[in-house]
Amino acid sequence: MENCIFCRIIKGEIPSAKVYEDEYVYAFKDINPATPVHVLVVPKMHISSLEGLNDENIENVVHIHRGIKKVADITGIKNEGYRVIVNCGESAGQTVFHLHYHVLGGTKLSEKII
Ligand code: AMP
Ligand code: ZN
Repeated sequence: MENCIFCRIIKGEIPSAKVYEDEYVYAFKDINPATPVHVLVVPKMHISSLEGLNDENIENVVHIHRGIKKVADITGIKNEGYRVIVNCGESAGQTVFHLHYHVLGGTKLSEKII
């Protein structure tokens, strides 16, 4: 996906602050952090959103969740706790149409999700 900003970040064409990487996922700091720790975990495969998951690519969910746990460990929020958010579609505020999981922490988060 030539025009996808996250595909370009994964390829190294656009700089990013990498937190973790393996064969399947890339994790980097959100450019506009909402919390002291705000990392995006994305599959290296271009999948447009949660709704783009299907029987062919669903194994990425396992890789992403493994990546999230690595990120929580690396950033030191593993024990205190953290929140994971996926915005799916326009009403949810999804702005980048390459599946990504927000990992938020480093502070006491609000008890209400929205
Ligand atoms: P969403 O609204 O769920 O689609 O989230 C997209 C996220 O990507 C936002 O939190 C942006 O701040 C973040 N973002 C956009 N461009 C970049 C970039 N070049 N590097 C890091 N984060 C980015
Ligand atoms: Zn992409």
